[in-house]
Amino acid sequence: MKNLFFFIVTLFLFSCTQKESGKDYPIQPVSSQNVELTDNFWSQRIKTNTNVTIPYCFQKCEETHRIDNFAVAGGLMEGTFVGRRYNDSDVFKIMEGAAYSLQQKYDPALDKYLDDLIAKIAAAQEDDGYLYTVRTILGDSAMTERNGKERWVEVRNHSHELYNVGHMYEAAVAHYNATGKTNFLDVAIKNADLINSVYGPDKRHDAPGHQEIEIGLTKLYRTTGEQKYLDLAMFFLDERGKSDIRDYSSESQWENGAYWQDHKPVTEQNEAVGHAVRAVYMYSGMADVAALTGNQEYIDAINTIWENVVGKKYYITGGIGAMYEGEAFGKNYQLPNRAYNETCAAIANVFWNHRMFLMNGESKYIDVLERTLYNGMLSGISFEGNTFFYPNVLEFDGKDKFNQGASERKPWFDCSCCPSNISRFIPAVPSYIYAKTENEIYANLFMANNTGFKLNKKDFTIQQETEYPWQGRVKFKISAEKPVKFDFKIRVPGWAQNNPVPGDLYEYINETTGEVRLFLNNEPYSIELINGYATIRKTWEDGDMVELVLPMNVKKVVPHKNAKDIEGKVALERGPIVYCAEQADNSDGVLSRSVSVSSEFKPLYVSNELQGIVKLKSEDNFTLVPYYSWGHRGLGEMAVWFDLN
Ligand SMILES: [Zn+2]
Repeated sequence: MKNLFFFIVTLFLFSCTQKESGKDYPIQPVSSQNVELTDNFWSQRIKTNTNVTIPYCFQKCEETHRIDNFAVAGGLMEGTFVGRRYNDSDVFKIMEGAAYSLQQKYDPALDKYLDDLIAKIAAAQEDDGYLYTVRTILGDSAMTERNGKERWVEVRNHSHELYNVGHMYEAAVAHYNATGKTNFLDVAIKNADLINSVYGPDKRHDAPGHQEIEIGLTKLYRTTGEQKYLDLAMFFLDERGKSDIRDYSSESQWENGAYWQDHKPVTEQNEAVGHAVRAVYMYSGMADVAALTGNQEYIDAINTIWENVVGKKYYITGGIGAMYEGEAFGKNYQLPNRAYNETCAAIANVFWNHRMFLMNGESKYIDVLERTLYNGMLSGISFEGNTFFYPNVLEFDGKDKFNQGASERKPWFDCSCCPSNISRFIPAVPSYIYAKTENEIYANLFMANNTGFKLNKKDFTIQQETEYPWQGRVKFKISAEKPVKFDFKIRVPGWAQNNPVPGDLYEYINETTGEVRLFLNNEPYSIELINGYATIRKTWEDGDMVELVLPMNVKKVVPHKNAKDIEGKVALERGPIVYCAEQADNSDGVLSRSVSVSSEFKPLYVSNELQGIVKLKSEDNFTLVPYYSWGHRGLGEMAVWFDLN
């Protein structure tokens, strides 16, 4: 009963505060609140995130003084500041994840834990709204150059003052949506009002050194309807590339500002450069602002940059940001196997591609999202949910300490952005399955679930049944009290149509790919592809059923000839899953293995290994496992790309 009341209150509050202009993405996601997952693959991950990752990350924040920093700043305990200046942001990200968890399943203990934490954060906030625990505790005189000797003076480079609070806005909005309580949102609004009083056309000018506040501000705008937050997000974006502290003629990314995407005005940027997470948070923020304002110049710029990333800077595993130096994008076609591919950058890539889809309604963005989701993002966290990769390499010799000084997933990092980012990302995965307009439903991802919809004042549910990503059959059953008319748009993945990625960075060399089939009420239905979606336009009745059958043959993929790091190599895929070989299955090692054009790999489902996977096995027993599952069976060689002969 309490839950029902809680739900109604939340809905009421939420519906009262929707902004009024009405302009936003033409396609809207279906919130994970409306989705009940019934699958084996993602349900396990979300359960582990709720039961292990979130409590574990909070515990690490307690052990590492991240939470005490708020208490000390708020005068609630004695002590000093411990850690890095951006550690406040980790706490906010985990709180965002906890809010999504609460929204899916109410947990009074977690609700109370968040309230206690919010009280500490509110105490740490200075009277005028400022929130940056390192400065509040230590004072200006003890600040390093990177913190900034005074408020704001280092915003453009390293202070992360605006980055931290951007994450707070996202967390506060999530907490408000989950609980209907405004205790956290009030802290966020007070802070945003301070920032708005400091920055603006007639005030202080800076482009935030680590983008994030732009996304946070658009969420605050959507929640409060306050135009000033949207204007401020756009102001910060438009400040880029207009600084007198940069040397725009320099080749160095540190001097010309490219590391911070501060080398050119955003509307003139046409290549993904610099720190990958900053860059892709910025492209996501530009998409949000463009959706809310109709800014065509932003749209043109991110379209061009998107083509650059997927066409020239995108790993087969969905990772982005090749370089350890500066955690940055490499040059065009520079894709070394000792990739940086930060887990946060993969998460950012999902955010960005989801927004590109919501803007354009084309399946190619979901193709990119799906590749990153199932491969280069998921590799970042162990099955146990409490160890993490920060970089995600595509090749490993069994010894290299590529993971911030370790060869295996680590329990935590000094800069722990990736674990906290995963903790908020995983519970939001169901919100990527469906999207809708007034008369269309998009089915983007395939995972078994029951989802409730409302279109034209009619309620109905869609039950999705599938063993994806291991099998290619996906069934949708409609339950509706009254017939309901809509276009059902079911994504036909690019990989099922012989296009591993949009563009020509990778291609398949198999001669046959198998056929995509569609059935309506068990009768074959000819596929009409619109923007990559098999589209069925009809009045749906209770019991109607659609079935999509995707070909799940093993595919060999080869890179563009300009990708010299992987020239002459081949990788293997099946469905959305990219494979790797590990020494655990191949005792002679895998780094010098080759694969011939004609060698056949057979899929083999094993339920008792690596949480249940499909392995690939060749005639001569060369065995591959999903890339995301690597690194769970001791140290040994791993490779994604093999010599092709
Ligand atoms: Zn990270």
